[in-house]
Amino acid sequence: MSGELVSAFVALRQLARAGWSFGLSVAGLVLVVLAPDSAPQTMAVASVGLALFRAHRWAATHRRGQAWPDLDLAVAALAAWAAFYQAFPGLSQELEVPRVALLVLGAACLAPAAVGGLGLALFVTRWAMGASLPSLLADVVLLAIPALVVRREISRTRRFAKAHAEQFMTRMRDEARSYRLLAPTNGASTEGRDDERLGQASVEEIHESVRFALSLLRESLDAHTAVLLWVHQKQLRISELVTFAHGVQDAPIPLGSGVLGALVARQQPARFHAKRGVLSVPYYADDPGVRALLAVPVLDGGELVGILAIDRLDDRPFDEEAEALGCLAARFCHRAIRNERIFVQLEKSRVEQGKLYRAVQALSAATDEAGVVEAGIAAAHEMAGLDFAILTCASEDGPLLHTVRAVRCADGIDMSHLEGLSFSPNSGLVSSAVKMRVSLPYRGDFDAANHSVLTKEHPLPAVPSLVVLPLISGEKTLGTLVLGSRRRGAFGDTVRSLLEVLASHLAVSLAHAGMVMKLEQLATTDGMTGLYNKRTMLELGMQKIEAVQRFDQPLSILVTDIDFFKKVNDTYGHDVGDEVIKGLGRILKETKRAPDLVSRFGGEEFVILCDHTDSQGAHLLAERVRVAFAETVFSSPLGPFQLTCSLGVASWPQGDGSWDGLFKAADEALYESKRNGRNRTSVAQVHRPSVRENMAPPRSLPPSSSLLRSSILPSSGRIPSLPRIKVG
Ligand code: GH3
Ligand code: MG
Ligand code: MG
Repeated sequence: MSGELVSAFVALRQLARAGWSFGLSVAGLVLVVLAPDSAPQTMAVASVGLALFRAHRWAATHRRGQAWPDLDLAVAALAAWAAFYQAFPGLSQELEVPRVALLVLGAACLAPAAVGGLGLALFVTRWAMGASLPSLLADVVLLAIPALVVRREISRTRRFAKAHAEQFMTRMRDEARSYRLLAPTNGASTEGRDDERLGQASVEEIHESVRFALSLLRESLDAHTAVLLWVHQKQLRISELVTFAHGVQDAPIPLGSGVLGALVARQQPARFHAKRGVLSVPYYADDPGVRALLAVPVLDGGELVGILAIDRLDDRPFDEEAEALGCLAARFCHRAIRNERIFVQLEKSRVEQGKLYRAVQALSAATDEAGVVEAGIAAAHEMAGLDFAILTCASEDGPLLHTVRAVRCADGIDMSHLEGLSFSPNSGLVSSAVKMRVSLPYRGDFDAANHSVLTKEHPLPAVPSLVVLPLISGEKTLGTLVLGSRRRGAFGDTVRSLLEVLASHLAVSLAHAGMVMKLEQLATTDGMTGLYNKRTMLELGMQKIEAVQRFDQPLSILVTDIDFFKKVNDTYGHDVGDEVIKGLGRILKETKRAPDLVSRFGGEEFVILCDHTDSQGAHLLAERVRVAFAETVFSSPLGPFQLTCSLGVASWPQGDGSWDGLFKAADEALYESKRNGRNRTSVAQVHRPSVRENMAPPRSLPPSSSLLRSSILPSSGRIPSLPRIKVG
């Protein structure tokens, strides 16, 4: 609704700008409303209003080079309306249509829905009052015309205001570039909003300083005009001027034109004086008749960057003193511009340093890889405003393989299908950036139609700006950070170098996070099986016991030990023994339920901690493990062989209710299995800690399969020459 109010306000402003001619037309309408009988007068007023308005508009268009609102159409509609009702007075008496029309016209400024509603209400009321069909239709048509015209005016005004603002911004950007406050481009804007705002503020600051110098100069030299012309794209533009003249040249001036052309070649201050006739001075649109001119070049490192000119219309040539003053003013203007340039650069680097500082802080605060990736992408977004970001990793071992590790997209882009994608090196930008260790595409010229980024089969959205930054940490290239933006020129030189610094910080943080993860893994897991080690299991076991003590939930542990394992080592060697240990580790991993925790406790002993599991459940699991292990055929240089294992199960609360008590009970159950012939599971009998009695001997369960009797069995009997190993 506030948007509509703004529209209404804009429309009313436009109407007000139409001035007295429009006022006359409105007066005509008011006459129709108040005195419907005054036909000729009304017609005359409306027509005069229309004619005056047209004349006014024509003059304005020519003077300012811009269109005025097309209100003559509305005025014509009003005149036609008045004429219609004068021609058919009977119709206008049926209802005070013009008054309602005014209401509708006002509503048109607010909302089209209101126009429709009022129009409908009018139609229904008149129909109920028995109005004839032609009169109803005439009302609708005649009310619709002014309403539509006003709506059209609103949108025209909006378009005009938008174009005006864009024109202003383009001019400001051009000017800022001509003062080298913003980086030069090939047309597209590459700066962020902050840079533009900074540039605009500096341009205004420059104007203020230059205007001050020019006013002083014109006053002290009693001149007609003092102007600073600035070189931009090999043309001169008026940067600032103080003048009595009316028509100055708004369009760019070719560098070599008029008397100033001589200055471009000589780069020396010059004084011109026309004893007879006038000088041709290019910065005037009309010719005011300049007789004397002083022009001072503004040089920056030997290059002509501007011209300061002062002129007089009377016959008083400028003297040496005036020239010295002109040179002083030119130096002042140049210094003002240079100072702003330095200020903008300092301000920009301060902002960039701030962004980088925050990025580095966030990266170092991240404790794991995922956190580092998030922090890196967020920082890149802050620096360049992204629409998507992809992080790829280059595998370290084996043949090089790129994998998409993270994908982040703005609304309206879906690239989730790329997550986890792996691909071999190809001619795409990611592969090339990893290989060449430079950010790509070269000079930021991305062409979505010809560049493949990941693979040809997996194209990315066709955005105008894209950069692939290699993540280099020391000698290694860990992967790439691919950034895309729908904004043209989003990765200009400044942003790009900032992103490159960010990428190197990101790479170091990623390498660091990877190392921490590896160290953590080493500290908590067993190198041979990848399962938890004893220390971790003891910590986790204590935590679980604390939890079950609080919530009184079931908890069981299983202890396994391979039967006659020493003999495996003795017979087949330690390497084969290691394979057996790994094999049992695999079986445990595959057999356990998701929340169960498995650890290698030492040698060929494993412990499984089963949360929310009573002794019955734990026994079932133990049996599954036992059978699976017994059915596994291991190979060795001497031929295949099979083994068995024994298990002990205990459930909380056992012993004194502590972890040690529980573990001791399971261990005793295991030895019960060993004592009873191995290849079996024994369950420790539940002992409440409150009951102070000795633990009853564990109960042994017979093996579930009669096939598995001996501890080392020949595999399916096919290889009879297996070494025999004595039991016990
Ligand atoms: P039992 O049926 O009574 O368990 O007999 P066992 O021979 O299996 O006896 P025990 O469980 O005490 O044997 C443990 C053996 O495991 C001792 C050691 O030689 C072997 N061992 C311990 N750690 C490793 C290892 O990392 N690799 C290999 N290959 N053998 C190991
Ligand atoms: Mg053992
Ligand atoms: Mg053993």
